[in-house]
Amino acid sequence: MAHIGIIGAGISGLTLALLLREKGHTVRVLEVSDQPGGAIRTTRDRDGWMAEWGPNTIIESSGRIKRLVSMLDLEGRRRYPDISAKKRYIVRDGRMVAVPGSLRELIRTPLLSRSAKLSILREPFRQRYRPVPSSQQTAPPHHSHSDSGTSFHTNDESLAGFVRRRLGEEFLKWPIDALVGGIYAGDPERLSVKHAFPRLALLEEQHGSLILGQIKGGVRRPPESDEIPRNKAEIFSFDDGLQVLPEAISARLGDAVILNSRVAGIEMGRTEAPGSESIANSRWRITFTDPQEPPLTFDSVIYAGTSQGLKSIKMPGPLSETVTPVADILHPPVVSLTLGFHRRDIGHPLDGFGVLVPGIEGFPILGTLFTSTLFPNRAPDEDHVTLTTYLGGTRQPEIAEKSEEEQVKLVLESLRNLLGLRGEPLYRHRILWARAIPQYETGFARYLTLMDRAEHEHPGFYMAGNYRTGISVGDTINAAFDLAERIDQDLIGS
Ligand SMILES: Cc1cc2nc3c(=O)[nH]c(=O)nc-3n(C[C@H](O)[C@H](O)[C@H](O)COP(=O)(O)OP(=O)(O)OC[C@H]3O[C@@H](n4cnc5c(N)ncnc54)[C@H](O)[C@@H]3O)c2cc1C
Repeated sequence: MAHIGIIGAGISGLTLALLLREKGHTVRVLEVSDQPGGAIRTTRDRDGWMAEWGPNTIIESSGRIKRLVSMLDLEGRRRYPDISAKKRYIVRDGRMVAVPGSLRELIRTPLLSRSAKLSILREPFRQRYRPVPSSQQTAPPHHSHSDSGTSFHTNDESLAGFVRRRLGEEFLKWPIDALVGGIYAGDPERLSVKHAFPRLALLEEQHGSLILGQIKGGVRRPPESDEIPRNKAEIFSFDDGLQVLPEAISARLGDAVILNSRVAGIEMGRTEAPGSESIANSRWRITFTDPQEPPLTFDSVIYAGTSQGLKSIKMPGPLSETVTPVADILHPPVVSLTLGFHRRDIGHPLDGFGVLVPGIEGFPILGTLFTSTLFPNRAPDEDHVTLTTYLGGTRQPEIAEKSEEEQVKLVLESLRNLLGLRGEPLYRHRILWARAIPQYETGFARYLTLMDRAEHEHPGFYMAGNYRTGISVGDTINAAFDLAERIDQDLIGS
């Protein structure tokens, strides 16, 4: 049994703590803020409105996510969206168009032109990606991205390059740009297909075609994998919002979660302290910014804080040199604005998940979720609705910096155009994430190498979080299961 210190009570740190405790270890989770959950946070208003600060949904992308929910006895509180919320809209020529769900709908959809549809049909016949031989690689002078879509970090193709090559420019400019704005608040020209959308890259690698790969059952997985294919994976939340999940984990962990506690330093090695056996026998020591908070000692330390936070934590020289550059991963700012309205003031039936807006359409928003259609309890009653709109991202970071009043004005204008909104909002909740979502850009492998190296060269030190193993809540939960297993094995071996 080992004593493990975990820095950060986001979903990564909390899930790790729960799983490691299940394996018989003792844990302490050290969190700077006054609430567990990190980016997962819900505001429940007394008048019956509810707003999420960060994520609104979790994709049930593995059996382990189901297991976590059942370990916490939360099945009765989990909510899957109604079938009516399955429809997704994308803006084309200023209007909302439903994303086709079948071949018949694809043939008829005004989302893509005739030539774009024909280009999709030709996809199976296009050649696989051919890596540029290292002898032919040239570095652009100031930027790591070339017009062709293949970056200087050769063989790390951009998502835009990949989609242009396989499906054509129009598919990139509408559906893909919209999707990337909705998931990463990012730019397909800058994201790496291999790192940001690994399943797409694998479909091409394994089957030579996205369409044929999909027909043949998608990406091949190892037999022991409990992954649920994306087209079958459900999304969910909870009756009282997503924060139910971190709250439940935190309640299970009890006083092992220490809030309002900012870690200032991580020290390594045997630190002798007169009269303290535990310090003399431990390898890792954590100090806090508050001098009143005594240092804690551990057999292992997991850094599950934000990547930016790595800059402000004092670490031994070689460890610091290795991990500090990870703080440079781009995280564009994003504003999440939830507005509440009378249902009668919206001209659209809100019969879907929401609407995504491609950059080429020139709107000042990334997209809007029909949050009260998705889940119950988001608005006071049937006569009211909530809509959550995202602004900013890599596409328009300057909009995230505008004042709240200006942002509300921009959102209302967009909603008037898209949804036939007539009235004024009855409820408003806004949050600015100055560093919202890590961008897995071309060249991202260098950060992964640094994190691997930090762990390899400093046994007992681990890193977890959305800047390493995937940006979604589901990714971070899956990664926590993997890491808890690895740490347990390392401890048995040591
Ligand atoms: C606006 C927005 C919308 C999103 N939408 C979705 C969505 O719909 N679906 C989805 O799956 N994902 C979504 N995501 C992504 C998802 O929420 C995150 O990737 C995930 O919650 C990250 O969890 P984490 O534990 O890795 O990191 P975090 O949640 O960032 O947790 C890190 C924790 O470490 C703490 N910390 C940092 N430094 C220190 C220190 N020195 N000492 C102590 N504590 C420290 C922080 O306070 C924080 O609590 C969204 C994110 C944002 C911002």
